[in-house]
Amino acid sequence: MNFVLLKSYPNYVEAHIAKGVLEEAGIGSWLKDENTVTIDPILTNAVGGIKLMVSKDEAQKALDILNTLRREQKAAVTCPKCGSHNTELVSTPRKAMNWVSALVTFFLGSYAIATDNVNHCFDCGHEFPGQADINA
Ligand SMILES: [Zn+2]
Repeated sequence: MNFVLLKSYPNYVEAHIAKGVLEEAGIGSWLKDENTVTIDPILTNAVGGIKLMVSKDEAQKALDILNTLRREQKAAVTCPKCGSHNTELVSTPRKAMNWVSALVTFFLGSYAIATDNVNHCFDCGHEFPGQADINA
């Protein structure tokens, strides 16, 4: 079977949410470079994140599902400043590059990276803490 790169994720939590959602839809997938990223998050940028791989035949369907999930996640988030749903979860894995976050990540594990997510509001520019772990 031919596998193609569907999407890459800066952290373990987001990659596993996506994989779980695809599994529920009956689409098999696997994560490439998962171990590299989880053991040494500083390498995340070097290897290009955790890669979600799906079979070529199911790639389009999988992409549709993830796009739908993304829209649902957006609709579930409201900007506390202006009430807009026009927000996006922005990952900032680069913060792991400074030594303080690197240490925190080292001691707390990959969940520390998830806290680097912020929601950005496109209507008023407000940024507020994001939740990577959305149980739809
Ligand atoms: Zn706003």
